[in-house]
Amino acid sequence: MTQTSSPAIAPGSTIGILGGGQLGRMTALAAARLGYRCHVYCPEAGSPAFAVAAAVTQAPYDDAAALDAFAAAVDVVTFEFENIPAASVERLAARTVVRPSWKVLETAQDRALEKAFFSGIGAPTAPWKPVDGLPQLTEAIAALGVPCILKTRRLGYDGKGQARINHPGEAAAAWAAIAGAPAILEGYVAFSREISAIVARSPRGEVNTFDIAENVHVDHILDTTRIPAQITPEQAERAAAIAHHAAVSLDLQGLLAIEMFVADDGRILVNEMAPRPHNSGHWTIDACITDQFEQFVRAVCNLRLGSTERHSNAEMKNLLGRSIENWDSILSDPKAKLHLYGKTEAREGRKMGHVTRVFPRWKNDGK
Ligand code: AMP
Repeated sequence: MTQTSSPAIAPGSTIGILGGGQLGRMTALAAARLGYRCHVYCPEAGSPAFAVAAAVTQAPYDDAAALDAFAAAVDVVTFEFENIPAASVERLAARTVVRPSWKVLETAQDRALEKAFFSGIGAPTAPWKPVDGLPQLTEAIAALGVPCILKTRRLGYDGKGQARINHPGEAAAAWAAIAGAPAILEGYVAFSREISAIVARSPRGEVNTFDIAENVHVDHILDTTRIPAQITPEQAERAAAIAHHAAVSLDLQGLLAIEMFVADDGRILVNEMAPRPHNSGHWTIDACITDQFEQFVRAVCNLRLGSTERHSNAEMKNLLGRSIENWDSILSDPKAKLHLYGKTEAREGRKMGHVTRVFPRWKNDGK
């Protein structure tokens, strides 16, 4: 299906969202403000986005009949996570408009393709080698040195599917830890900060980036995002330029988040990307004229993009597991903006909500 010079998908239409987590939930809320209906497709009962959707399909991602009925019921399909089976995306794309395209998803699903893509557009990453077996891992460790990190090519997130190697003797244990899945070995980056850039691009070719955010991870899970990032204007410009370049090179139709390291030598190195709204962009809900979820909807529906201007500085903190039980004390600060995802089971480490605090923006306080 040709998607480049397509008309806008007008308010009142139905947006199909694959995935029913908090990103889908916040997308559906933003879509509703613009007059859209959302139809959420997710295998799990009680998914956070189901509660705010106009229609839901609860079925596995490879259920052909359910996918066909979903495609027939919506005007455009997008997704709130990237691990959708290729055959399902193909099936949907043959029946309706899917944005972003399979090419973008495919690149984001595989760490090796992703790294090759960024090298190809002149955006450096950590040094890396593909690894398909223990002998290759041993060679890669010798080439890259220790410490290094073994990461599965696919299906890794929040530190899952990763094993840190501090000594060459740990190769076999690391290989066992990722269960011998196709992987890459990455050299360890000595970094001072982690940052992320979020960019939207619409089919009509408008591109717009949000200000660069600074992220602190705890146990591999995002803990806090602060804006503005404490980086130089040149580093902020470089990070935004990488995001812009990536969006154009991928012919992106939607939203793309890119996580990056600010290396100790000052260089910006790309870590990974996600072609969807991102946890490190939640601050935009309370601190920008247009937030990442609305921008995502606008891009996917080929509307004009909104201003990403940041009217406030902000700090966003994730609320994991049982920490949401403190909702009352969080609300004792009347300026705290509490966002809860409606998840009933507060498992340890599970993202249950977030809280954003905004602060006045001073003149010249950077991007
Ligand atoms: P990832 O799943 O690739 O986003 O990695 C999760 C976190 O692990 C990152 O946010 C970093 O804090 C850390 N990390 C990942 N890769 C590297 C690397 N090559 N060097 C240093 N730290 C890393």
